[in-house]
Amino acid sequence: VFITFEGGEGAGKSTQVGRLARYLRERSGREVVTTREPGGSTRAEEIREALLAGIAKPYGAFAEALLFTAARIDHLDRLIRPALRRGEIVLCDRFADSTRAYQGAAGGLDASIVRALERIAVGDTRPDLTLILDLPPEAGLARARARADDAAPDRFEAEALAFHARLRAGFHAIAASEPDRCIMIDAAREADAVEAEIRAAVAARLPG
Ligand code: C5P
Repeated sequence: VFITFEGGEGAGKSTQVGRLARYLRERSGREVVTTREPGGSTRAEEIREALLAGIAKPYGAFAEALLFTAARIDHLDRLIRPALRRGEIVLCDRFADSTRAYQGAAGGLDASIVRALERIAVGDTRPDLTLILDLPPEAGLARARARADDAAPDRFEAEALAFHARLRAGFHAIAASEPDRCIMIDAAREADAVEAEIRAAVAARLPG
């Protein structure tokens, strides 16, 4: 079972990944692997560091998408597919929908390019369920900045509110186009309420 978490900055994805993992371990008795993108494998984490340092910035959204794709291919080959083959549950913090939303909807990269890259990297390894944690951009950015303390916001979190509005619209469009796979979760609430809704969604969509 492959479950992905998506959403903008500060939506609480990593918290909810951890909480769902604990719950599923207890409830299902199965191995639950938690991972993230960009990253998740040694090489992909190296690409993550380079991306967060702004390596793709001078080249634009296409080069950025290529790097995310390279990281995704390694992550899928080394971690996600082997775990799924062993029958484990994989929970991933961000996946291909982030490329659709960040580089595509928000970054302006042509949708046909985004789709082609996704086909190359993901192939048949599509998520069974995608939880989109939805939050107004203002609230998400405020949370993300509070978390970063007085550290300088990273290259991505420093992006303008307009970017995050396009991003949010991108995630809404993904949910609308693939309602069987995607569930929108109102992430503006307390973490406990968000967790309860996620548990209910997982139980309803993936019984057993
Ligand atoms: O979710 P997390 O904060 O770990 O993501 C790291 C950064 O990478 C985020 O600030 C996000 O804006 C950025 N990102 C991106 N394009 C993607 C995935 C993540 O710009 N496809």
